[in-house]
Amino acid sequence: MASPRAGVPRPAAKGTILIRDISHLATQNDALGEIADAAVFIRDNVIEWVGKTADLPADLAAADRVISGKGHVFMPGMVNTHAHMFQSLNRCMAQDQLLHGWLKSLYPVWSRLTADSVFTSTQVAIAELLLSGCTTSSDHLYMFPNDVTLDDTIRAARSLGLRFHPVRGGMSAGVSKGGIAPDAVVEEEPAILADMERCITTYHDNSKFSMLRMSLGPSSQKTVTHDLMISSARLARKYPGVRLHTHLAENEEDIVYTHKMYGYRFGEYIQAVEWDKCDCWFAHCVKLNESERSLFAQRGIGVAHCPSSNTRLASGIAPVRAMLDQGVNVGLGVDGACSSDAASILAEARLALLLQRAGGDPRGLGVREALRMATRGGAANLGRAEVLGQVAPGFAADVVGFQYEGKVAYAGAGVDPVASLLLCAPTSGVVNWSIIDGHVVVREGVLMAADGGEGAGEQEFDVAGMCAAADRFCKELTAGVAESALGKQ
Ligand SMILES: [Zn+2]
Repeated sequence: MASPRAGVPRPAAKGTILIRDISHLATQNDALGEIADAAVFIRDNVIEWVGKTADLPADLAAADRVISGKGHVFMPGMVNTHAHMFQSLNRCMAQDQLLHGWLKSLYPVWSRLTADSVFTSTQVAIAELLLSGCTTSSDHLYMFPNDVTLDDTIRAARSLGLRFHPVRGGMSAGVSKGGIAPDAVVEEEPAILADMERCITTYHDNSKFSMLRMSLGPSSQKTVTHDLMISSARLARKYPGVRLHTHLAENEEDIVYTHKMYGYRFGEYIQAVEWDKCDCWFAHCVKLNESERSLFAQRGIGVAHCPSSNTRLASGIAPVRAMLDQGVNVGLGVDGACSSDAASILAEARLALLLQRAGGDPRGLGVREALRMATRGGAANLGRAEVLGQVAPGFAADVVGFQYEGKVAYAGAGVDPVASLLLCAPTSGVVNWSIIDGHVVVREGVLMAADGGEGAGEQEFDVAGMCAAADRFCKELTAGVAESALGKQ
């Protein structure tokens, strides 16, 4: 039985949309490639036709809605594969700490979260993702203090029309059991597993163009037992399409901790807990060695590369070039706003590109490779490669358009507008159009309300109201917290 706290799912889109005269269309499809003067025809929630505007068949020349793509780059909506949307209310905190110290500073603040504050926090992250070109996102919620439930995040996703892959996380091993989280913020394992199954049976939709699929994700090897890892893997595998996701090999501290606690390296750990199959994807993987990368490639295990978080927390630079060369699937993740302070998928793609060159190789990562990671790499991590990450007939109608003409950030970049998306430095707020599941969610740069009720999509989303709520919750969450945890210099 769906909880009213999760909001109302939006009905599937009905009608047709024609985007024509697109200056540059980067389809991410191997056969279609990049097309100049392109058009995309959408029927209901599926892409029906893609090609040059001049070749548009006569019967597709009219549509319920016609959008001009002149002066725009259009591409598939990007896919974010690692986030903690509950963290948006606590940006710019614990500014100068490594991962474990950072976590210990923030756990007491997060323990004050409520259903209402998590709802607003999730909306903030989603708004920022949408305005940076993301149309599908996972969200790893692993703390459930007070009245917080996963349902609150689903309501936020529905309010903005995001295609959502929530991960029901959890922490069970507090300090008294050798973990790093305070005992006060962990849950009992039977309760975690019961709520995981409730979320699956209530919300998981394994249909082809599903707007919501569940994953399970005990927080990390530092906060849960082997038993919970194994139990959650076995639970997920009872339900087709439910995947597994957590953190792995994030920094040097992780290597030391995993070895001290278990005598393992990461490759041995994931095999011991049965998280070594193609239904798993892991965030970070900064410290995977060559044989572990081989294991990932052989088993089809995915990586969510989170460059902002990895640099902000001084974790290191993930060996993305080596991963790609060894055949590992890599997608991108914005991580939580406590460690990246932003939820811009475009900024992550840009930083991913730059970091692979920082060691001295100008070909460390190409623009087109980075865009592929942001689209098809992400879709593969979520098990959606058949319908997401490409603009091609039969794929989901998830398309974004960046206006480069007349924009300061792109002026003078006409030689390669597709590359300008990453080589120039826009951050958020650069998306002019975003369509998800055939619905317009960003119209001429403005977020639209997407709640399932009458008139959804016709009204602008209340950005000012959301930001005011976020500022209020930020004050509540941080009141009385020591200056050292706030990260002030
Ligand atoms: Zn994370």
